[in-house]
Amino acid sequence: MLTPNLTVSDEGHLLFGGADCVALAQQHGTPLYVMDETTVRENCRGFRSVLQEEYGGNGMICFASKALSCKELYRIVHSEGLGTDVVSGGELFTALAAGMPASDIVMHGNSKTDAELQMAVDSNVGRIVADNLPEMTRLNRIAADAGKTVRILLRIKPGIDAHTHSFIQTGQIDSKFGFALETGEALEAVKAAAACPNLELVGLHCHIGSQILETEPFAEAARVMLGLMNTVRQETGIVLTELNLGGGPGIRYVERDDPKPFGDIVRAMLEAIRKTCAALSYPEPFMLFEPGRSIVGAAGITLYTVMAKKQIPGIRTYVLIDGGMCDNPRYALYESEYEALIANRADAPRTETVTIGGKCCESGDLIGKDMLLQEAQAGDTLAVLATGAYNYSMSSNYNRNPRPEMVMVKNGAVRTVVRRETYEDICRCDL
Ligand SMILES: *Cc1c(COP(=O)(O)O)cnc(C)c1O
Repeated sequence: MLTPNLTVSDEGHLLFGGADCVALAQQHGTPLYVMDETTVRENCRGFRSVLQEEYGGNGMICFASKALSCKELYRIVHSEGLGTDVVSGGELFTALAAGMPASDIVMHGNSKTDAELQMAVDSNVGRIVADNLPEMTRLNRIAADAGKTVRILLRIKPGIDAHTHSFIQTGQIDSKFGFALETGEALEAVKAAAACPNLELVGLHCHIGSQILETEPFAEAARVMLGLMNTVRQETGIVLTELNLGGGPGIRYVERDDPKPFGDIVRAMLEAIRKTCAALSYPEPFMLFEPGRSIVGAAGITLYTVMAKKQIPGIRTYVLIDGGMCDNPRYALYESEYEALIANRADAPRTETVTIGGKCCESGDLIGKDMLLQEAQAGDTLAVLATGAYNYSMSSNYNRNPRPEMVMVKNGAVRTVVRRETYEDICRCDL
């Protein structure tokens, strides 16, 4: 099985987090997002323990909301001692509504509106990551009007090529995010921030990309960013005390993926920080990390019902399901790969090569091409694995399909954490 939280019962049913997936589909309907609370908690603890062991706990792990934002997830990560990063007013609203302390929230975004900045200032979020100069000017004015000084970090493009899909590579110079290091723009931004009376510049931030399988790009990012902090000290006398290295550790989507464990990645970054600090006589900064996918990705699967099988002789076989790009747009966006299983015959060998097609009116609405699967029949329950990140959070009402329910399982016990949308929900804003 792809991940340890997947097992097979004596009846041949797929079990996820101890819950029978066939029973889940029958009782809750499909499509159904299933999250395993135990895996989420273990991953949170894994990140925190590396920070503790390698760095005396001098830092904070902030779950990246964009991977999966719903109230229950914030409650779980908060109870594990994590903060969160948010990238919009909507994520901020949800995190606050779930009881996440504002001081544990980092506000991101390359195009924050005045309303979002106002919300961040009014709710006293712990840190705002400034992306560009006009935003900094607006934030300074909003903070001044509120009679506050807000703590900021600057988003930097460190120029790291993280060898990932170009759509999700964000650390290089041709990126819409942040200030470039090579051009001197970053240093100018530091000076501009220091000149804003209602902004307290405490550090720098970078995020070099996502689904990165190696440790070295992360260690390199750590060295480059600390080098910039040292340049800032030399050029301006400002000693920045915080460094946020973003997220990005990859997970296993298909059997042949071999990602470095996130513990190795965080350890490599912290080692690079400690060594570079020692070499430059720079005080060790408070470290922030923002993992998203590596916390929730393998903690989720999606269950569908097989509606039909279409065999096109000599071409391909389609297995058609009752969901698709409306609940998982990642194949349509990035040609992302997944593993799938027939949950009611999970112990049977996978002998057929099929393309899983969704129900939306787009030829590109696929979950994956040429996937190995058990002989599928209409009525089967199909499980698509490792869908915990960037599925629910990227879902839409395309074709006016209601968003699926999400259940949380924990050692076999099941509870609904996001109810299924109704047609009334879909029409609720229509006048
Ligand atoms: C996307 C993103 C993350 C999370 O990335 P993962 O690959 O899911 O870990 C963290 N921080 C920022 C700023 C991001 O844009």
